[in-house]
Amino acid sequence: MVKKFNLGDIVELKKKHPCGENKWEVMRVGIDFRIKCLGCEKQVWLSRPVFEKRVKKIIKSSDE
Ligand SMILES: [Zn+2]
Repeated sequence: MVKKFNLGDIVELKKKHPCGENKWEVMRVGIDFRIKCLGCEKQVWLSRPVFEKRVKKIIKSSDE
């Protein structure tokens, strides 16, 4: 099943950020994803396959 991600989704990653947070907000979707750490607000770019591999689950979908 292909997961669908939307702007504003809150996702949990498998690995914690160094600041201790593991929840991130999706800022941009596409070939590359930009996500923002909810703990320290650092933003990072990840390619889609890397992002999908790191996501543990979608905590809040902006679709709902
Ligand atoms: Zn952080």
